[in-house]
Amino acid sequence: MTGQVLVLGGTGEARRLATALVDRGVDVLSSLAGRVADPVLPVGEVRIGGFGGAGGLTAWLGEHCPRAVMDATHPFAAQITASAATAAAQHGTPLLRLQRPGWHPGPGDTWRHVDSLTVAAEAVAGYRSVFLTTGRQGISAFAALPGRVLVRSVDPPDEPLPAGATLLLDRGPFSVADELALMREHAVDVVVTKDSGGHLTEAKLTAARELGIPVVLVRRPPLPPGVQTVTTVEEALAWLLDLLRPPGAG
Ligand code: NAP
Repeated sequence: MTGQVLVLGGTGEARRLATALVDRGVDVLSSLAGRVADPVLPVGEVRIGGFGGAGGLTAWLGEHCPRAVMDATHPFAAQITASAATAAAQHGTPLLRLQRPGWHPGPGDTWRHVDSLTVAAEAVAGYRSVFLTTGRQGISAFAALPGRVLVRSVDPPDEPLPAGATLLLDRGPFSVADELALMREHAVDVVVTKDSGGHLTEAKLTAARELGIPVVLVRRPPLPPGVQTVTTVEEALAWLLDLLRPPGAG
């Protein structure tokens, strides 16, 4: 055992977790997919790039023998989450999934949950001006939309965009005032998003409520069965510190 903890990152929670662990003297290796050109890096050691599927991650765990794997990837990062579950089970490596809660509608919200980007595209086909905030992956599901489409993503999508698309490259957090101004400027009449959860990108939901605009939310993929899951960085930290506590230390 090297005593190193592998944090599968790429989210704000993963960065906060890495900071909390480094602050407590834990040897942390954060892993990023390498999807975005200019990632916000966590503190501590970082590796970038895929492992090569579940088999690759299994081999990596066999070689590096981390003390634990903490999967703090995005709620929609289903492949790496599945790989982590398979690989950790192969080696008996303790695994924790840290996943923030999804969003819940409040009074005044008009939300429709759908199971996929494809169904989301069908749901908004009749609108004049769609605001797409589902990220650049899978954006081709919306390629046939007939109306105006405001597409916002961190990096440019490499899939085809709808004919009436306006691409806005930007990274949150966004304020409610900014979201209101943007939606008014583009006369947005429906918002499409993934149920990512969290505070950093929820301003668009508040703005949609204030403008009386409906929101279509894509449901999260299911988690692999049997994986222990927590929703906060604090719970994840407590789990790891408990795991690292020497036997008999109380
Ligand atoms: P994904 O579909 O689950 O991952 C695709 C592949 O990317 C994985 O099979 C894995 O490659 C590699 N990968 C993903 N996360 C990795 C990590 N932390 N370290 C090393 N390799 C990783 O996930 P994704 O949607 O591409 O997301 C990629 C990253 O972006 C994740 O870190 C995620 O937290 C972040 N992110 C995703 C979204 C989203 O909406 N999907 C939004 C914001 C941030 P191998 O199979 O080769 O190991």
